[in-house]
Amino acid sequence: MSDATIIDGKAFAAGLREKVAAAVTSLKDRHGLEARLDVVLVGDDPASHVYVRNKGKQTEEAGMVSVEHRLAVDAPEQELLALIDRLNGDPAVNGILVQLPLPDQIDEQKVTAAISPEKDVDGFHVVNVGRLWTGAEAPVPCTPYGCLLMLKETLGDLKGKRAMVLGRSNIVGKPMAALLLAEHCTVNIAHSRTRDLPERCAEAEILVVAVGRPEMVRGDWIKPGATVIDVGINRIDAPEKGTNEDGSPKTRLVGDVAFDEAVKVAGAITPVPGGVGPMTIACLLRNTVIAACRQNGLPDPEV
Ligand code: NDP
Repeated sequence: MSDATIIDGKAFAAGLREKVAAAVTSLKDRHGLEARLDVVLVGDDPASHVYVRNKGKQTEEAGMVSVEHRLAVDAPEQELLALIDRLNGDPAVNGILVQLPLPDQIDEQKVTAAISPEKDVDGFHVVNVGRLWTGAEAPVPCTPYGCLLMLKETLGDLKGKRAMVLGRSNIVGKPMAALLLAEHCTVNIAHSRTRDLPERCAEAEILVVAVGRPEMVRGDWIKPGATVIDVGINRIDAPEKGTNEDGSPKTRLVGDVAFDEAVKVAGAITPVPGGVGPMTIACLLRNTVIAACRQNGLPDPEV
């Protein structure tokens, strides 16, 4: 059997960003409107800084206005809630994203609930979660939506396919399952208490993995010819790459799937890096331009 097709998330994301940029230009030219995304960063977590910088850069590259708000690591919850309240009430703001994780003194659920559902471009607000599960129009969480777009591009119609979502987080696993169900897949959701996990995974024609465990899914967990979407991003030591100046080993990124084994069994698979990751920000930009249209009473753009 030949190796799996590699699903190129980078190229796919570039295509989506182009469509978003075209929608942003048309919003400007035809209606004189700017699409704007406000990102709130609390504290000084280095990984969060990198994510926020990338989001800002790509937002601007798509022709949208990007505004960043920084709060101190010890900012009281009330300060963040007051900022969200102000952004909710500002008609120039189309999307609000609060970068997670938040420091301990701030209740994440309270913050997510405070964002106006119409401006919740992450799709995490309970109202939007309810809309997603009941089939109503809603901003869809970015990472699972990116996975869905790649699945549809790879497989076409997903109707009737047997899908397994490994992981049941609110930001990836559960919304992924809702999206696949809406596409008429037969969906299983597995988690840390699932029995016979390798066998259950090996029944799936579509396997989406979001567990946060480096290379946990082995080649023999995969049904021959299955389409595998690896959401995991794990940094592991890579002594084979040598050491850093301080003597610590260099590192590399791996997914939740043992790629070298899986690629010999699957029909198609996303790599890490370069698979799901690039799609996530592209989907955030998509959600923002859609939010801008809806907030101004315009039909959804073709993105
Ligand atoms: P969470 O930690 O919130 O959820 C992990 C899920 O995996 C849980 O449902 C957990 O089960 C399950 N799980 C953990 N260990 C096992 C195990 N040994 N066997 C079976 N199930 C297990 O993670 P997220 O959903 O937030 O993220 C998952 C991965 O995706 C991470 O690597 C993260 O970095 C990555 N990620 C990537 C994104 C991207 O843009 N590409 C965006 C978001 C996340 P239980 O519920 O029973 O505890």
